[in-house]
Amino acid sequence: MSLRSDKNITEIGFFMFKATKRFIAGAICPRCSEMDKLTIFKEGGGDYRHCVSCGFKDQMFLQSDPKEVETRVNISKEEKLAETQTVRLVDPKELH
Ligand SMILES: [Zn+2]
Repeated sequence: MSLRSDKNITEIGFFMFKATKRFIAGAICPRCSEMDKLTIFKEGGGDYRHCVSCGFKDQMFLQSDPKEVETRVNISKEEKLAETQTVRLVDPKELH
């Protein structure tokens, strides 16, 4: 009984999974070199590509992700610079 219900859940999940897949126009699979066989889908908050021809699966990183990291690095660099300047101005006065 429990095995039957498990199979039904898997079948429903696979159908929904299949429906949300989108083919990437002009994309070439890095494994089998087939064109227009790659699909893109979301899983666990990440973007994945999957080849329907050979079964190749890989996580994709969107262009917005590196931009976010770049901004964070710039802010932290500025904060670090401001902190260093403050320390350099205060230190000689305290020493003398
Ligand atoms: Zn492939």
